Amino acid sequence: MEIRAKTAERSRRTPTDVKGVPGRGRPSALAWSVTLQPASQGANQPVRIARFSIDGNVAFGAVEGDKPDELVLDIIKGIPFAEHQLSGTKVPLSKVRLLPPVLPNKVVAFGRNYAEHAKELGNEVPDAPFAFFKPSTSVIGSGDEIQYPPFSQELHHEAELAVVIGRMCREVPRERVADVIFGFTCANDVTARDVQKREKQWARAKGFDTSCPLGPWVETDLDLATAGDLTVQLTVNGQQRQLGRTSEMIHSIEDLIVNITEAMTLLPGDVILTGTPAGVGPLAVGDEVAVTIEGIGTLTNKVVKRG
Ligand code: ZN
Repeated sequence: MEIRAKTAERSRRTPTDVKGVPGRGRPSALAWSVTLQPASQGANQPVRIARFSIDGNVAFGAVEGDKPDELVLDIIKGIPFAEHQLSGTKVPLSKVRLLPPVLPNKVVAFGRNYAEHAKELGNEVPDAPFAFFKPSTSVIGSGDEIQYPPFSQELHHEAELAVVIGRMCREVPRERVADVIFGFTCANDVTARDVQKREKQWARAKGFDTSCPLGPWVETDLDLATAGDLTVQLTVNGQQRQLGRTSEMIHSIEDLIVNITEAMTLLPGDVILTGTPAGVGPLAVGDEVAVTIEGIGTLTNKVVKRG
């Protein structure tokens, strides 16, 4: 009950300090009924939320268990961004196909947000955050294949912490950033580096199909301080290539969300990529690439030739 009261109070404050979509007046009831899942909601509230398919049906489920081989999904009735409850029907994770945990309207990615990474590519560290888009068609889930695009000879991996937005918002003040976050997941900002170098805009280099693996699920129980100090690791065929901490970000998660929402409305399910630590490098057909973020999980994808 206390949570409901808090949510109602947030909603009353919302129109003045977290603005809505221009031209549509007040944000819609649906967008503002978003339920966040803080730990205070109790042990029976989902913390890690996966999206999956089983026997041709798509569902969301709360991931339960600690041992990787014994994880089960408690199927969610409703959608996680609105009113929902656990059904009590459980399926082993090993029996389902994981899908991207969200279907974003847009993925906003920030470049050069770790000094060591900017340096390794010979770039200056930017004074202000700078963003680019990855289209919704670039998103794949854990276990899906990254298709090597035929127009590139230099595909690179970039391990990144991804922020999943939980409510419609614009011009978010710094102190309200936590309120608009649904949770966190792992991302790989797969980049055709040769194309990025020769083309001024990065739409093709960073926006081709399968260039945005997300997953394995959304961890909804991390606060901003914790998310701002996590180990980010990437391996290729089991060999470590990238290792960094989110505390090394030049611009914090708060900075990035303030920056992008100055310009545009974010919708529930939108994803913010926060930049990659040093150690980016090539991917080849046949490679298995894995991004592991402390407290979240491991996102694994195999690289194949586009068929
Ligand atoms: Zn990146």
